[in-house]
Amino acid sequence: MATGGSFLLCPPRFYGVEYVINPWMEGNVGRADLGRAVAQWDHLRRELESRATVEILDPASGQPDMPFVANAGLVWGDAFVPARFRFAERQGEEEHFTAWARQSGLRIVEAPEGTSFEGEGDALFQPGEALLWAGYGVRSSLHAYPAIGEALDVEVVPLHLIDERFYHLDTCFCPLPGGGVVYYPEAFDRESQDEIRRRVPADRRIEIQTGDALGFACNAIVTDGAYIANHVSGDLRARLSRLDLETVICPLDQFMLAGGAAKCLVLQTERAVPEGQAEARPSNIRDRVVELTGHLLDGGLMNRVLDCIDNAGGSFEIEGFRAGLRHDQDSVARLRVVAPSAERLGAILEQLVDMGVRVMDDAAVERDARLSPSPADGVAPDDFYATTIFPTDVRVAGTWHRASEQRMDAVLVVRGDNGSTAVRCRLLRDLEQGDLVVCGIEGVRTHPVRSSSAREESFAFMTAGVSSERRVELVVERIAWEMERIRERGGRVVVVGGPVVIHTGGAPYLARLVQRGYVQAILGGNGLAVHDVEVSLFGTSLGVDLERGAGVRGGHRHHLRAINLVRAHGSIAGAVQAGVIRSGIFYECVQNDVPFALAGSIRDDGPLPETRMDLRVAQAEYAELTRGADMILMLSSMLHSIGVGNMTPAGVRLICVDISPAVVTKLADRGSVESTGIVTDVGLFLTLLDRSLAEGVRAADADGDAAC
Ligand code: NAD
Repeated sequence: MATGGSFLLCPPRFYGVEYVINPWMEGNVGRADLGRAVAQWDHLRRELESRATVEILDPASGQPDMPFVANAGLVWGDAFVPARFRFAERQGEEEHFTAWARQSGLRIVEAPEGTSFEGEGDALFQPGEALLWAGYGVRSSLHAYPAIGEALDVEVVPLHLIDERFYHLDTCFCPLPGGGVVYYPEAFDRESQDEIRRRVPADRRIEIQTGDALGFACNAIVTDGAYIANHVSGDLRARLSRLDLETVICPLDQFMLAGGAAKCLVLQTERAVPEGQAEARPSNIRDRVVELTGHLLDGGLMNRVLDCIDNAGGSFEIEGFRAGLRHDQDSVARLRVVAPSAERLGAILEQLVDMGVRVMDDAAVERDARLSPSPADGVAPDDFYATTIFPTDVRVAGTWHRASEQRMDAVLVVRGDNGSTAVRCRLLRDLEQGDLVVCGIEGVRTHPVRSSSAREESFAFMTAGVSSERRVELVVERIAWEMERIRERGGRVVVVGGPVVIHTGGAPYLARLVQRGYVQAILGGNGLAVHDVEVSLFGTSLGVDLERGAGVRGGHRHHLRAINLVRAHGSIAGAVQAGVIRSGIFYECVQNDVPFALAGSIRDDGPLPETRMDLRVAQAEYAELTRGADMILMLSSMLHSIGVGNMTPAGVRLICVDISPAVVTKLADRGSVESTGIVTDVGLFLTLLDRSLAEGVRAADADGDAAC
């Protein structure tokens, strides 16, 4: 007599690969050999009949995937949860499976409307336990599971599938009697792998290699001491036998063409509810409603938000969408974000808030921010909200307040009471004990200014090939035009530069910009000033003669002599006034009252007297000089440019020039419309900028003459 339980099978009479709904089907449409498929299925049926009770369901014509009966639904005691297929191609199967369940006397428990649920393909019980492993991410919806878990009174453990080739849980995960599992770790995200390892003891856990996984070794029927699969390597066979399982191979290559094997071809129809496990098990799955407004479709925000949820292991349901009907009208979307646990939901919402999404409570209303006092000077409460460069509002007593001094990587401090509430960005080190700090993401909203144009621009340069110099010229011409306008209206341009500016011969051009009033502040490190002074004194930069482009004997000491001379005069300004320094960027700064700040680094020689080796002082000076900037030119210094980028709020025009595409991408991709990245030699950039500005001035003079 069979002892291995009861299974439903559906003969492949109408089987074929007729469409593509998973990566296995690609290229296989019309390629299945029906005769061979029937023979392989018969072999599997016979193997099962010798161990278990087999019931046959009549196939329906026009439903070529119906033999994959594992996806029919899920049986638990007298309950049956019928599938809600994700793809229309398979939805016609649902009525046949439900009719079978009714005829079998099973109680129908519907998965929630609007969700996908693909039965035992994604939902697998641990044998003998009220524990449901719940696959999601490709086919079944995460938000289908809390209701199913509650209705069946079982614990649900969500597992996030991240490789489309393993689109159902049963393609990469197989629970074993005695609390074991066979699974392919790479098919799951890191958190799901951790969850499996946490729940299944090492000696019961069989992690398989890619070869076995791609042969669908996990897609196995485990019954009566047998492990029936399409493929099992020698190594896996040995490990299974240590768990008292005998491997039985049933070749099923005709079904592999459609992405299915042994387990896909059966549905377990009898499953006893374990005794003494009837207590309620609340699901860890959590959800939250969020709203987003803006150019959701043309600006791409909707896609980015959905991708972010998906990549972070969450899932979503779009509850409402109102499209802006005109170019200048915003769209509004309301989403339910679902995550496998409260912690992961929190992490997802944090990312969404930074994208401008608003988090609502269960009644779809926004809440006040949660404020906690700093436990000590310079220390924030554990779950403080970390700021972005984007304008940020905080909700206090029902009113939104815009934070001042917006910058990245700060905390939000709320001062004052109802009438005089003020919110300010503060650095961790500046916090005082008892300061009220915004924690979590409730009552926080940001206003990112997003456009793909900045990114497109920098990528265009990277791929521009031989024409790039001309393209650089065109962009530089536009920047020159903007600088001209900023100068006319008395605005501020701040330059951040590295020593490469000097090495590439850019110093005279930058010096001229300072002299002609195009630059209102210079920020850099010791190296920028040292080599600028070196050129002024010796005509070399790091010992290289900039006129001839060749090294000068003993020139490697020039920069040290430059430092020594400045130190002897007490400051760069002192050396300028003494007539020792007579040209260069810093000479022009001193002569034209253009302030500068030099921040120290571990590789500095000297340093020069102005170089701030206390980085807190340096950061404060940088912040002071960048305040109110209209444009920041970041010229070939990754270190100093990133530092400045972090303290600059959105809305300031950023121009990033570097020879390395990766550095330009990092600096220019602030998700804002105001940044332009230029991949080029900084010396060339400054030459072109100087020329464009000079031409602009000549053109203006010519206009003036004509007017006279
Ligand atoms: P960095 O690595 O942060 O930046 C240099 C950048 O220049 C890189 O991103 C690189 O891709 C880019 N670059 C290289 N060649 C280029 C070219 N031809 N055109 C355009 N971009 C080009 O380093 P950094 O800012 O040069 O220096 C880091 C720190 O070291 C600074 O604080 C600096 O002052 C200090 N430093 C001190 C001395 C000194 O005291 N003698 C000398 C050099 C640097």
